[in-house]
Amino acid sequence: AIQITNLQKSFGEARVLKSISLHVEEGEMVALIGSSGSGKSTLMRHLSCLTLADKGSDSEIEVLGTPVQSKGKASKDIRRTRARVGNVFQQFNLVNRLSVLTNVLIGGLSRVPVWRSMLGWFTREEKQEALKALELVGLREHALKRASELSGGQQQRVAIARALMQKAEIILADEPIASLDPESSRLVMETLERINRELGITVVVTLHQVDYAQKYCRRAIALQGGEIFFDGPITALDGQMLSRLYGTQMGSEP
Ligand code: ATP
Ligand code: MG
Repeated sequence: AIQITNLQKSFGEARVLKSISLHVEEGEMVALIGSSGSGKSTLMRHLSCLTLADKGSDSEIEVLGTPVQSKGKASKDIRRTRARVGNVFQQFNLVNRLSVLTNVLIGGLSRVPVWRSMLGWFTREEKQEALKALELVGLREHALKRASELSGGQQQRVAIARALMQKAEIILADEPIASLDPESSRLVMETLERINRELGITVVVTLHQVDYAQKYCRRAIALQGGEIFFDGPITALDGQMLSRLYGTQMGSEP
């Protein structure tokens, strides 16, 4: 579902991603981990072409079988692929004054004629579909509340429902639990795990806390200083590797 080949990205003199290659299979749930500044968000942003690889590099990125960027240039039909990828952010990005239901309906806007989305008209079928998405994330009874009335963890699950309404085939979640308490974090991770398992949606999630990755993801990709430090079953990440990844020896040669 995702193929990255030799991705190189610099900001000025700083080489932030150094020849990253990885493959994520359809239906996987992968944790992207690594200490602050290791390049996780930058890597995620390349998948939706919010960031382009270095000009003159031979970086190639394919999402859902479609090249989205090549050698630092965005592909022409990136928009169609982007519509198939849902994003979940640390700060939820809901429209606070609108209802929970409307926030979910917004996820389907790319499938609705422009005039109708401008008027905010939705069909009964669309509303049913949005309610079903809310049911899947356990929030159906909150559909008519304003988004701002919900807790952070609930808002994050609304953001996931919005991605479901979008019919996203991949969900990219960058630090979805970074500003949540442990109980809300658990519910958000369980929700991501459920949609991955029941709907087969591919999930790539960046996480600060490795314990959540261990609990909910089978595979981990760990970045360190813009390079892949580890890629494999998360059970193979032992204490020694974790202290090399996060510990005081970070960046020094063994
Ligand atoms: P965190 O865990 O704190 O979210 P991260 O792994 O997501 O960190 P990135 O945000 O990808 O790390 O940043 C990686 C490096 O790239 C950092 O050194 C950062 O300062 C640098 N960087 C990211 N975006 C830019 C930018 N637009 N301009 C300049 N430098 C940037
Ligand atoms: Mg980040």
